[in-house]
Amino acid sequence: MTGRHATTVDVGRPPTGPGALRGWDGRVAAFTLAALLLLVALMGSVNLLLDGVLRDGGLRWAYAATMVLLFLLGAQLVVRGRAGRAQTLAMVLLGDLTYLVIVLCIEEPLRYATPLMLLFPALAAACLLDVRPLCVHLAVTTAVCFAALAPSYDSNAGLVVQAGMSAGMLNAAAIGVFVLRRRVERLLVATEDLSRLDPLTGLYDRRYLVEQAPRLWRQTRREGSHLSAVVLDLDHFKRLNDQFGHAAGDSVLGAVARALSAAVRPTDVLARTGGEELVALGSVADLTEARKLAERLRAAVATAGDRRPWVTASVGLALARPVDGEEPAAALWRLIDRADAAMYEAKRTGRDRVVVAADIPRARPPRPEEPTPAQPHG
Ligand code: GH3
Ligand code: MG
Ligand code: MG
Repeated sequence: MTGRHATTVDVGRPPTGPGALRGWDGRVAAFTLAALLLLVALMGSVNLLLDGVLRDGGLRWAYAATMVLLFLLGAQLVVRGRAGRAQTLAMVLLGDLTYLVIVLCIEEPLRYATPLMLLFPALAAACLLDVRPLCVHLAVTTAVCFAALAPSYDSNAGLVVQAGMSAGMLNAAAIGVFVLRRRVERLLVATEDLSRLDPLTGLYDRRYLVEQAPRLWRQTRREGSHLSAVVLDLDHFKRLNDQFGHAAGDSVLGAVARALSAAVRPTDVLARTGGEELVALGSVADLTEARKLAERLRAAVATAGDRRPWVTASVGLALARPVDGEEPAAALWRLIDRADAAMYEAKRTGRDRVVVAADIPRARPPRPEEPTPAQPHG
């Protein structure tokens, strides 16, 4: 879907549009996991150098092998620079189970292997996983706490209290960080939306139009079609404001935006580029289709004025066929300038009409009712 009017139809909208949370970032996942794995491996390796911490025999070798495995996995993630969702969940669960291995290999787990070590996978899970995998991690953390602490407690009651407390605190921390992360993500999306939406009409703004230029240009070139720019300027809007007040003017602008949103096609991009100026961009097969679209938009504006202060728009239409080697943003503004000049022609020839731009861009003609700048005498 795409973007024209935020509250009604979803037109010309990018993948990370309003309401959508950000997509999966494999790079962030890879480097976060790698950092945590390498940190655990580094800290855990210190135990190999200390006397009396690790159990002797095969368990010492099992411990050393686990640390090497963590190093290798961390290094592999750095080299690949990307981790998928399944791999991320696997790494988090591996982190949980690594704690179990450490406890088995250590002489006095209560002294040398605090369940706080499970904070590493807990933070990774909270920062990277979605709800369901996070729940899997929470269950595994609880099970690991019980399994790891069981040999250290004689009574079941003592085990339940200590393991339950450890698991509870770790899971509470993970859930807290997860909730915070979701709020930040939503805030970020809302801020991005606000920065590209016009608050009065809910239409996209000029900045968004510039952002969309390369995408529109590429898409139209791929299709081998034309890109059409329809520039609309409301007629005598100052007069309407003066007669009915600015609040009524604002309300008419909102109604016009809604009417235009309903009239453009799902792939068109509709934006408010100035006070009472709007632009609709979209690909068309030929001039006939473009002219129909422009006429439909002109008629939609007139409908918006129904039972309100009467409103019409002068409409300028221009077409371009994108070619290789053009700078999309500059080419797009050249196209809009041509449509703008045609719109001024529509003003000059009576308003409430569509004028098609000539192929060659023209200088903007003086606006009707605007005083022509006085020529210097002598
Ligand atoms: P023309 O037919 O030649 O376009 O006449 P016009 O009166 O529409 O043109 P002009 O550029 O002289 O005036 C534009 C008016 O649009 C002036 C301004 O008060 C009004 N306007 C611009 N933005 C807003 C807005 O956000 N709300 C309201 N209510 N009015 C606005
Ligand atoms: Mg106007
Ligand atoms: Mg204007």
